[in-house]
Amino acid sequence: MDQIKIGSFIAARRKAKGLTQSQLADKCGITDKAVSKWETGKSMPDLSLFMPLCDLLEITLNELLSGDFIADENLKEQSNQVLFEVITTWLGKDQWELRAGSDNENIVLKLQNIKKIYKTENTSTLAVNNVSFQVSKGSFVGIMGASGSGKTTLLNMIATIDRATDGTIEIDGQNIAEVSENDLAAFRRKHLGFIFQEYNLLDTLTIYENIALALTVKQFPKESIKQIIYDLAEKLEITHALSKFPYEVSGGQRQRCACARAIAVNPSLILADEPTGALDSHSARQLLETLVMFRRDYGATILMVTHDALSASYCDRILFMQDGEIKAVLEREQESKQAFFADILEVMARLAGGGSYVL
Ligand code: ADP
Ligand code: MG
Repeated sequence: MDQIKIGSFIAARRKAKGLTQSQLADKCGITDKAVSKWETGKSMPDLSLFMPLCDLLEITLNELLSGDFIADENLKEQSNQVLFEVITTWLGKDQWELRAGSDNENIVLKLQNIKKIYKTENTSTLAVNNVSFQVSKGSFVGIMGASGSGKTTLLNMIATIDRATDGTIEIDGQNIAEVSENDLAAFRRKHLGFIFQEYNLLDTLTIYENIALALTVKQFPKESIKQIIYDLAEKLEITHALSKFPYEVSGGQRQRCACARAIAVNPSLILADEPTGALDSHSARQLLETLVMFRRDYGATILMVTHDALSASYCDRILFMQDGEIKAVLEREQESKQAFFADILEVMARLAGGGSYVL
């Protein structure tokens, strides 16, 4: 954000409205000196004054923050960029940049020789066998595999919902086996965001309340919660859905709301299990674009389980699972989504001998 540009824009708008600095200060309930500091770019208005100031100067929030009028035809592009800057400021971009430091700090998730055996009375199933990989900050990694190949089991262990039989999982450098049962819920809230196929949202709360809940739990200041939610909702085109209950909106909208909730708290890692599984193709594409946008604009790190090649083609690395093991890894270099899609199909065919993957 260019504070000086914003300052002169505020000054110009104030004059256009025929107000003196002290009249504007009066209306905002602040000192003349504060207004003068804004206008010379020495400080920014307090968050709580953004909306009243916009009303007084007859500008939009996006215009205030970009320090310029935004022509209608540029509205979306400009406002997205501005919102991104605002949200990253609020959600702590510094923290992301810090995390992106040395190579080791760049690793959000590290699995070493992970094994999971399910034991029932007379059978034992080796659901995940000797899986090792790591995920660096800002990447979008897919896990593919036929039904029963161990994808959900693997994701649940990373999600700290289930414990591994053997091996170690580190999230943000912390071995999750060392987190006590009592502290697990807090650990999840601090480090992880979830987008699952179902059961994403609490049915007794509105969409707004669902997102707010996640932010409240993370102890965001009350004043900023509303703004964060409205800005995200605008970006994800779910503003009109905020006051509704989950069952009152479409599956696609519900998933985008779940996405908003997942990203709002700025988790280190977003885990998604078949997030497009219950969606029609249009909503599925929208959801995948949203995830790509999260990665690009918010530096989000995403691990997504999917069994369909189209969803996987949005990722930048894909791990192929079969019988609980990772059998192949595909990196998307500079190639287009279409070319990557073709590569994925090829690996799927090679691994499965044609039949066992669902397309
Ligand atoms: P995917 O998500 O790839 O379809 P899962 O992780 O759900 O695969 O399952 C992997 C294997 O583990 C399957 O053989 C499944 O039957 C078995 N499995 C999964 N959950 C349990 C459980 N709670 N108890 C026993 N076996 C399980
Ligand atoms: Mg599954």
